Amino acid sequence: MIRENVKKILSELPDGVELVAVIKGRPVEQVLEVIDGGVSIIGVNYLKDVNKLYQVIGNRVKWHYIGIARFEKHDLLRRKYLEVFDMIETVDSAELAEDFDKKCSQIGKVMSVLIEVNIAREPQKSGVIPENVESLIREVSGLKNIKVMGLMTMGPLVEDSESLRPYFRETKRLFDHIKSMEIPNVEMRYLSMGMSDSYRIAIEEGANIVRIGTKLFKE
Ligand SMILES: *Cc1c(COP(=O)(O)O)cnc(C)c1O
Repeated sequence: MIRENVKKILSELPDGVELVAVIKGRPVEQVLEVIDGGVSIIGVNYLKDVNKLYQVIGNRVKWHYIGIARFEKHDLLRRKYLEVFDMIETVDSAELAEDFDKKCSQIGKVMSVLIEVNIAREPQKSGVIPENVESLIREVSGLKNIKVMGLMTMGPLVEDSESLRPYFRETKRLFDHIKSMEIPNVEMRYLSMGMSDSYRIAIEEGANIVRIGTKLFKE
């Protein structure tokens, strides 16, 4: 069933849109099944999932960190995790970017990062508010061991996913604006938005990474 779910979603995605399979504590067998179905990027919220799975799966897939980076900072900065992750999608402060830069320089790695945008300007929510995104990107663009590759957003919690459309649209507008700035060492290539209930809308509004969990794993 999981394989079929994956195949169905992959077949729906337009060319150039990448699927991140969000695993959130799922057992190894299920994660292997999504990979078998054709998933090539795993999205991790909990570092214990890396401990459990990396030995088995290794570099057959790419690993994206999508959890709250500032909460996990202490552990995320450990060499073993920095070596596993191909991208950190949830950078939302210069301090965090500088910490990643420093640790990555010690292991000789350039980490791809996305800047997480708090597009609805919700208090208490992670992400940078839209009006501060450009200045943050300019500030961290000089760091040699991280590379800003785009934006990520969650969008607010809403009853009806259609209500997310204006937020996705605004994030895309911000993405295009920053892209047009042509900031040195910044490559605005990825816009990560959309989950199980909203990925179709997100793609219509310009997402080229979608992060899907529930819909892949449901029986
Ligand atoms: C859980 C999660 C998802 C996937 O959500 P589903 O509704 O299960 O598809 C995507 N992005 C982030 C950051 C998540 O935490």
